[in-house]
Amino acid sequence: MLKVEGITKYYGDFLAVDHLSFEVKPGEIFGLLGVNGAGKTTTFRMIMGLLEPSDGRITLNGKPIDYSVTDEIGFLTEERSLLTKLTVREQCIYYGTLKGMNKELIETRLKELLERFEIPEYIDKPIKQLSKGNQQKVQFITAIINEPKLLILDEPFSGLDPFNVELFKQEIKRMSEAGSMIIFSSHRMEHVELFCKKLVIMLHGKPVIEGYLQDIKEQFRKKNIFLKADIDIDLLKKIDGVVSIEERADEYEIKIRDNEVVDQVFSVVAKKGKHVTKFVVEEPSLNEIFVAKVGEEYDK
Ligand code: ATP
Repeated sequence: MLKVEGITKYYGDFLAVDHLSFEVKPGEIFGLLGVNGAGKTTTFRMIMGLLEPSDGRITLNGKPIDYSVTDEIGFLTEERSLLTKLTVREQCIYYGTLKGMNKELIETRLKELLERFEIPEYIDKPIKQLSKGNQQKVQFITAIINEPKLLILDEPFSGLDPFNVELFKQEIKRMSEAGSMIIFSSHRMEHVELFCKKLVIMLHGKPVIEGYLQDIKEQFRKKNIFLKADIDIDLLKKIDGVVSIEERADEYEIKIRDNEVVDQVFSVVAKKGKHVTKFVVEEPSLNEIFVAKVGEEYDK
């Protein structure tokens, strides 16, 4: 298990991370999110052992982070780090050996991964001759060559086409099912929602939202009703608890304060509506929660 306990980081007088705590268990994909400058990269660097926390503790399976543990951590960060003059094979042998693997094992694993990522023909190509997306695949393959126990993924899908996003997603799921701990960061909330059952959203170095996605959605309480019907919309606007109604191409999106308002909206629709073809109650998206909660705190 990865345990982050009250980590704090000062750059001079500037407090970049302020008493952040969370845990990631084997098999879990944990979302570490925040606006630009919230402190995510600083947190990643502390977990990877590249920066010393000013305070707090980080342990991986009970051991503090030092070079004996960093072998078990793989990462794909935004600062891409490829040795572009080397071929794919040479780069993987170089990194794999640094992680304590023997050449035979590296070769077997590399071939398997290149097949899965659908680029086996590039094994002896210099990396600089590959397209940006294929370079990203090579970077990902390098990060997971030794099947790390902890994998840090910072915007792993940026610059990838939809087919390659799918390949990356499959591999991330496979690793989590095989028991890796994964920390996932992205500004694309729909990706986060797809993967992460547990998350923290940071602002100014502090968590503003944390816990299980399901609980976060329930606590937020606001829900959306999607309605297709012929109805005088002013009747719905008058209901106490209806926050707003947005007219879409062929449906209404009704934002409500909480679950209790659903019955009232439903009874007005049942009495006054005609041609009702849709009445769907949905939980808010993570994007909606992010914008609402972070927006509330942003200027404090
Ligand atoms: P982004 O989403 O833009 O990558 P982030 O959440 O990763 O942002 P960090 O890079 O961790 O944010 O930065 C957190 C804060 O610390 C920012 O205000 C940044 O300006 C500051 N900071 C980062 N590195 C340093 C440094 N070496 N010296 C001084 N301040 C720094």
